[in-house]
Amino acid sequence: MRGLVFTGIGQMEVREFPDPVPGAGQVVVDVKCTSLCGSDLHNLYNSNLPRDIIMGHEGAGVVSAVGLGVTLVKPGDRVALYHVVSCGVCKYCMSGYAQFCVNDRRALAGVEHGTDADKIIVKEANCLPLPDDIPFSVGAFIGCFAGTSFSAMKKLNPSGLNSIAIFGLGPVGLAGVQYAHGMGARVIGIDHIPERLALAEELGADDVINYLERPTVDALKELTGGTGPDLIYETSGSMKAQADALNACAVQGRICLVGFNGPMSEKADGAPPLYAVIGKELTVMGSSIMPRQYHYEIIDFIRAKHIDLEKMITHRFPFEDIEKAVRLFDTGKTGKVVIDL
Ligand SMILES: [Zn+2]
Ligand SMILES: [Zn+2]
Repeated sequence: MRGLVFTGIGQMEVREFPDPVPGAGQVVVDVKCTSLCGSDLHNLYNSNLPRDIIMGHEGAGVVSAVGLGVTLVKPGDRVALYHVVSCGVCKYCMSGYAQFCVNDRRALAGVEHGTDADKIIVKEANCLPLPDDIPFSVGAFIGCFAGTSFSAMKKLNPSGLNSIAIFGLGPVGLAGVQYAHGMGARVIGIDHIPERLALAEELGADDVINYLERPTVDALKELTGGTGPDLIYETSGSMKAQADALNACAVQGRICLVGFNGPMSEKADGAPPLYAVIGKELTVMGSSIMPRQYHYEIIDFIRAKHIDLEKMITHRFPFEDIEKAVRLFDTGKTGKVVIDL
């Protein structure tokens, strides 16, 4: 089978690998769709990346073989792949929060082979059942960024009574635009890339702000009668955006930070002005990935609200052109780029 490997900084090639054979508790999935994610680009320029690991962690496909003891799926089942690989038995795993696993937390395309391949081998717990009416691409999205985005949006729980500012209109932000719009809120999208701002408007943003054209805080206050939005959803991870979020948020507003830039560790300089949290009684939340149990809720929600996550796809390629796809995605000017197999 074919698999995409990053062979050096900014370099990649498609290699042949032996077809995987499932061990006990393992499942082989024939990949039908794999989508590119910002973290793939981090990997492309990461000098510490192992050079023999297949890339990709957003995927969906059809089960083609199962190992001993597998009971949750069978050959022929459509599945999305949950990208966090965890122990399954610690208190976080047992309660559905695999992203906080204390034992052996990994990610597809980190230590394990990823989804940019004809086939992938995973634990059965990483298979999220995918109903027939949900496209493989959407399944791939739910297993990573669309799930991350939903989980963060649920913490803010917007309604028709709220104005929500969404900082950063990459995939997490754009999914957030669709979710918040579906939940009834007035949505204001913020970015500096014109293509992304246009896409956000198409997906339900009521207003958009290009922060290179006018200062974000001023623009947000202007659009909300001077108060600032009462909900803020920050996906960019930039310190400037975090500071703007705190400064623009309305009194008693709520902020959910979901974006981070580079390593998770706190940087000493340029910290955001957290005094605003006290002065304005803000609630600032963090959110990390999604608990597995939201899978069904997301599907129910996007069905009920006719949310078409495929609208975020700007480019589709066959697997033969995966390098071309990664290079295009690396320009930062696309929406979601997916590879169909
Ligand atoms: Zn991802
Ligand atoms: Zn665990």
